[in-house]
Amino acid sequence: MRHVDVVIIGAGISGSILALSFPKTFSVLVLDKKQRQDPQSGFKKPCGGLLAPDAQKTLSALGLSIPNHVLASPQMFSVKTVDFVSKKTRHYQRHYVNVDRHRLDLWLMSQVPQHINLEEGCLVTLIEETKENVHITYLKDEQEETVSCAWCIGADGASSMVRKLCDAPKIRQYLAIQEKYSLNDMKPFLGCFFNQNLTDSYAWINIKDDTLEFGAALPLQDSLKRYEAFKKHIKNISIDLSHPLSKEACLVNSPKRLSEIYLGKGRLLLVGEAAGWISPSSLEGMSYAMDSALNLSEAFKSDNPLRSYYLLSRPLKFKIFLKQLKSIVLFTPWIRRLVMMSGMEAVKMKD
Ligand SMILES: Cc1cc2nc3c(=O)[nH]c(=O)nc-3n(C[C@H](O)[C@H](O)[C@H](O)COP(=O)(O)OP(=O)(O)OC[C@H]3O[C@@H](n4cnc5c(N)ncnc54)[C@H](O)[C@@H]3O)c2cc1C
Repeated sequence: MRHVDVVIIGAGISGSILALSFPKTFSVLVLDKKQRQDPQSGFKKPCGGLLAPDAQKTLSALGLSIPNHVLASPQMFSVKTVDFVSKKTRHYQRHYVNVDRHRLDLWLMSQVPQHINLEEGCLVTLIEETKENVHITYLKDEQEETVSCAWCIGADGASSMVRKLCDAPKIRQYLAIQEKYSLNDMKPFLGCFFNQNLTDSYAWINIKDDTLEFGAALPLQDSLKRYEAFKKHIKNISIDLSHPLSKEACLVNSPKRLSEIYLGKGRLLLVGEAAGWISPSSLEGMSYAMDSALNLSEAFKSDNPLRSYYLLSRPLKFKIFLKQLKSIVLFTPWIRRLVMMSGMEAVKMKD
């Protein structure tokens, strides 16, 4: 059986950043079910593709500049925020870079250096921990292959197999449902919508070139019914959502308590959303995926990577703690209403 020091499962944001920053003294294999040769088929992560300033900062620290083909148009500088229950609307300035998430993933994969073995089109089906190693079985071209490693890193997102194997604490999850529509002659804008009767998270509108995306993060129970109910509210603000071009859905993590962030045990480690690194207030996860990956690669320079990863993660945990406090303001209806009524930090729109 083939043996390597480290297997990273997943080459999304966290897996690719981890691979490109990993200490060169380790032999590393990265497995992902996506394929670069055929970008239109295979797995595409449903995501808003808004790169927050912290993600932009980390990319600059790595000396990475985003090429034009990864950007989506237009670049928008404020978010129209609507509370459907209190019937308040405000615009807030934001500093996101609008990217096409799939193109970002494929471009980041292309930045993984040659000495790292990145295998695409590989679906991991089984992970078994033995006394000395971890055995990973995956399907590639309909053939089953097994590799053994000293460390297995789960960069496999919200539905992480590695997290399940660790018996990690349960993390709060929503079902994110998103549909795409033709933008036609609609004026592009970024939207954020609240309705506490449908979700204690939020819904959004994003524009990607000539496509409008309407999505919502919904409780797992009755999520489809709630999504359709949200669409009716959107219709009332004169946005036609009657002819979707496509629909996608996936789980999204949203740590309610710090104890839901879990970094691993023994030979199994977690990074990115698999560990719970995502903002519970905005569901912004790309900067956390990047920063947790950099912490983990740094941790591998020590004799005890897991312990070192815990220590290096303290500032990021504190950041999540602050976002949990922000969630209380955002998602407590009466506090949100007060903030919106005050007009605090809102953009004064010209007629
Ligand atoms: C609808 C939605 C909108 C979002 N919008 C934003 C946004 O605008 N801005 C932002 O910053 N964040 C956003 N997020 C959060 C962000 O997408 C995630 O936090 C981020 O992608 C996490 O990166 P990751 O690398 O940890 O996991 P992922 O990006 O989920 O990557 C996991 C990788 O693992 C691979 N994989 C999984 N299982 C297997 C397997 N069994 N075998 C092989 N490969 C496997 C997948 O192919 C994938 O490439 C959004 C999330 C959702 C759901």
